[in-house]
Amino acid sequence: MNIVVCVKHVPDATADRHFEDDNTVDRVGVDGLLSELDEYAVEQALQLKEKNEGSEVTVLTVGPEQAADAIRKGLQMGADKGVHVVDDAVAGSDAPATSLVLAKAVEKIGRENVDLVVCGMASTDGSMSVVPAMLAERLDLPQVTFGSVIEMQGKEVRIKRDGDTATEIIGGTAPLVMSVTDQSGEARYPSFKGIMAAKKKPVETWSLSDLGVEASQVGLAAAWTEVVETAARPPRTQGEIVTDEDGSGATALTEFLASKKFI
Ligand SMILES: Cc1cc2nc3c(=O)[nH]c(=O)nc-3n(C[C@H](O)[C@H](O)[C@H](O)COP(=O)(O)OP(=O)(O)OC[C@H]3O[C@@H](n4cnc5c(N)ncnc54)[C@H](O)[C@@H]3O)c2cc1C
Repeated sequence: MNIVVCVKHVPDATADRHFEDDNTVDRVGVDGLLSELDEYAVEQALQLKEKNEGSEVTVLTVGPEQAADAIRKGLQMGADKGVHVVDDAVAGSDAPATSLVLAKAVEKIGRENVDLVVCGMASTDGSMSVVPAMLAERLDLPQVTFGSVIEMQGKEVRIKRDGDTATEIIGGTAPLVMSVTDQSGEARYPSFKGIMAAKKKPVETWSLSDLGVEASQVGLAAAWTEVVETAARPPRTQGEIVTDEDGSGATALTEFLASKKFI
C-alpha cells in the first residue's frame, strides 16, 4: 500500500506570531515545526503501514526551505521518503492554491499507485480544515474526513467521526483522501534509531515548474481570500476576587456568575 501524508511546517505556536506587512504569517524568520495535528496523520499512516506488509509512507510538504524540518520529523517517526515542494512563488498561497500544489505533487508521486492520502484535521496556524476536501476534489478521489478511529480491511476504509450530537461511521473504498483528528491515537516519538535512519532516507525537492504549476496560479496575488487586518489578542485583565470576610462570599460569587450569565 502506498500512503502519502501531507504535513505542514508551521510557526511554533508557543512563540509570538509575526505577520508581514501584507498580513501573511512570517514563516521564515521564526522557529517552526511539524504541525502537531499532522503528527497524528503520520502516526495513523505508520500504523496502517505496519498492518500491511510492503507498504510505503511518503511525507509531502509545501513550504519554504525550513519546511524540510517537517519532512525530517516524519522520516524520523518512521516514514520511508519525503517530498518537499519549495518555490518562492508559493509564499502567501491560500487553501485553494495549496491544495492545487499538493494535488499536482500527489500526481507526480503517482496518483494511480497511491492508495491513501492522509492529512491532519487542520493546520495549527491557518486552521481552515479545508485542504483535505479540496485535495480530494482536485484528485477526483473520495474523502473521509475528521476520523477519530481508523480501520482498513483490504481497500475498505471505515472511520469514526465524532460530532456534537452524533457519532458517524463513514466508509469508503481506497484510493481516497482521509483526515484524522487528535483523538485518533497518541503520535509516537522518534526513537534514536529512527533519528539516525532518517538521515539516509530519500527526500526529493520539487519546484512549481516540476509540477507544471504556473507561478500565477499560486501566491498572494492568486489568493481567493485576503487577511485584511490582524490584531494582537488584548492582554488578560486581572480577575475579580470575591472575598468572604462576613459570610457573604457565596452570595457575591453567585451574583457575579449570574451577572456574567454563567448561571
Ligand atoms: C491567520 C491566518 C489566516 C488565514 N486565512 C486564510 C483564509 O481566510 N483563506 C485561505 O484560503 N487561507 C488562509 N490562510 C492561509 C493558510 O495558512 C494557507 O492557505 C494554508 O496553506 C492552507 O490552509 P490551512 O493551513 O488552514 O490548511 P488546513 O485545511 O487547516 O490543513 C488541513 C491539512 O491539510 C494539510 N496541509 C495544509 N497545508 C499544507 C502544506 N502547506 N503542506 C502539506 N500539507 C498541508 C495538512 O495535512 C493539514 O493538517 C490563513 C493563514 C493564517 C495563518
